[in-house]
Amino acid sequence: MTKEIHDCEGFSWNGYANYKCRYNGKFEDDGKWYCKNHHEPSIQAKRRARDETFNAKWERDMAISDRRNFERKWFEELASAVVGYDQPTKRVVARKVFAQFRDAAKEKGYEYE
Ligand SMILES: [Zn+2]
Repeated sequence: MTKEIHDCEGFSWNGYANYKCRYNGKFEDDGKWYCKNHHEPSIQAKRRARDETFNAKWERDMAISDRRNFERKWFEELASAVVGYDQPTKRVVARKVFAQFRDAAKEKGYEYE
């Protein structure tokens, strides 16, 4: 049994002009044959996978950035809240700010020990 060999119907750009792809067509789409680099469904699947990886990383990075901003904001809040008080009062004020911080963290779903 012989296997039919198809040429890829895709074109590539060499910097000056389009030229016909020199690879065999291994994937059929709409009656035409393409190599994996010119097969539109393969291209789209690859693009989707790449986008999903990118989006997942983006969301992770954004979550990290959000949390850092949250912590920075509360650190500044605490630092400015205690300015000018004597030591015993600082402790009371700090405890109050920490309680607010814990509530805000809980609302955000951040865990702290
Ligand atoms: Zn091709």
